[in-house]
Amino acid sequence: MKNVLITGAGLGGLATGLRLAKQGFAVEIIEKNAKAGGRLNQISKDGFTFDTGPSFFSMSYEFEEFAKDCDIDLPFEYVELDPLYSVNFSNDPKTYFLHKDIKKLAAQFADVEPGFEKKMEKYLRKSGRLFDDTVDIVIKNNFDSVLHYLVALMRVNPVHLPVLARSFWKQVTMNFTSKEARQIISLVAFFLGRTPFDTMAVYTLLSYTEFRHDGYYNVKGGMYNIVEGLLRELEKAGVKITYNTEIVDFEENNGQLKSLIDATGKSRSADIFIINADAAVFRSSVFRRKAFSERRMQKMNWTMGYLTFYLGIKGKLPQVNHHNYYLGTNYQEYALQVMKNPDTPEKPYYYVNVVSKHNPGCAPEGCESLFFVCPVPNLLFKKNWDDRDKIVDSIIHDFSKRIGQDIMPDIISKTIYTPEDWQSQFNLYKGSGLGLSHTMGQIGAFRPKNWDEKFKNTFYVGASTIPGAGLPMAIISSKLVTERVVKFADKG
Ligand SMILES: Cc1cc2nc3c(=O)[nH]c(=O)nc-3n(C[C@H](O)[C@H](O)[C@H](O)COP(=O)(O)OP(=O)(O)OC[C@H]3O[C@@H](n4cnc5c(N)ncnc54)[C@H](O)[C@@H]3O)c2cc1C
Repeated sequence: MKNVLITGAGLGGLATGLRLAKQGFAVEIIEKNAKAGGRLNQISKDGFTFDTGPSFFSMSYEFEEFAKDCDIDLPFEYVELDPLYSVNFSNDPKTYFLHKDIKKLAAQFADVEPGFEKKMEKYLRKSGRLFDDTVDIVIKNNFDSVLHYLVALMRVNPVHLPVLARSFWKQVTMNFTSKEARQIISLVAFFLGRTPFDTMAVYTLLSYTEFRHDGYYNVKGGMYNIVEGLLRELEKAGVKITYNTEIVDFEENNGQLKSLIDATGKSRSADIFIINADAAVFRSSVFRRKAFSERRMQKMNWTMGYLTFYLGIKGKLPQVNHHNYYLGTNYQEYALQVMKNPDTPEKPYYYVNVVSKHNPGCAPEGCESLFFVCPVPNLLFKKNWDDRDKIVDSIIHDFSKRIGQDIMPDIISKTIYTPEDWQSQFNLYKGSGLGLSHTMGQIGAFRPKNWDEKFKNTFYVGASTIPGAGLPMAIISSKLVTERVVKFADKG
């Protein structure tokens, strides 16, 4: 029986561990932190629980397929979100509710975008074709070389060529005229860690995944139930997880990785190694590869940072929906600033998730758990976070004004993560929340590979390798790397 050592207990590491254990491998997982989950984590404090990162997912069928592959019942329950989310612009009392039902959605835009339903149908038809024509060829595929990738791309219908040259924003403005429709429909580009102005129009396929294809889902009892469910299954499958152990060095032998060495100097050997830590960061800081030297890492294209904070408040907020976006009045100017401007952001844009809305167990009786995400520059562009309290307070004031209820005096629990915390907790390069951006030169065969350039027995899984960021992508990534590991083990 082959031994597999997985570094990192994020969703990618856990899912791969279960897939391989079910195929007869002896699996051990090493995690730097005291808890599993990586960015999909949980804070328990002052009687409240908060999801730290992901608050919903799309492509639910990827989780179902994963459970089927592992021959288990999915160890958590998910609930479809309707509305998907709400959006409010400052100085505008109206709140837009985004529904998958096109008629209900069109009603929201009736006064600002004439003919919305027809325009949206056309836009979604195009995004749907993009999704259908790329998902199997590009997203759910292993690539052995750049040539292999380019040949795969040539199989994509050439009708999509023009979107390669356009931005997400351009594609949206070609379909809608009102600022409200344009800004709301292009918001999903922020989910990729950049703005609609510098995200390729190919990713308008995300509009199809949110509004038509499968929608968004929340997990019953909180997102961390995904991790807890997987941990139960891993235990049943005999997978051992060692916490509080960071890998910092390695030993090699004859073109193979021999062992990984943790921060206490302990060496851990295995037949096969899988890295779930960021694939670029690990190649840079542990394997010390030239192609990932600090100078080269700085030149790569990284996603924005996130300032996240978690509030436990006394009292309920019946007027606030589960997922909410609060936008200002200067969308384009803001988008151009948000990645790079180191100054304290004025009137930031932000997202609020009322965690306790669907999961009452997350807050004591009569209280609410709130999770705020504010896009900010990563540490390459803003190094000093001494102004974090000032930014957080300005958001709390703005939120209070918009919901007509001052929550400041009711705060009984408060935790703040700046990009510095995201970096130190999960080894995310410069606190960039979603790792390497999804630019043309950093996707597919140009993304850090899921197989190692030097060690034949070493592979990578997770958001930092193929296909990319997000929970369903981590599940797809676990399938792709498992295929590689099984093939390698069969040969050896
Ligand atoms: C604020 C925020 C909100 C998000 N919201 C959503 C959302 O709503 N929906 C969605 O689908 N996605 C969302 N995402 C993205 C999603 O969280 C990630 O794509 C996904 O969780 C990545 O999983 P992973 O397994 O690839 O990596 P990670 O979760 O980063 O796991 C990697 C693990 O490796 C460990 N590690 C690193 N280095 C070492 C080392 N040297 N030794 C030992 N262990 C190590 C880390 O501690 C970590 O546990 C969000 C991300 C953020 C930051």
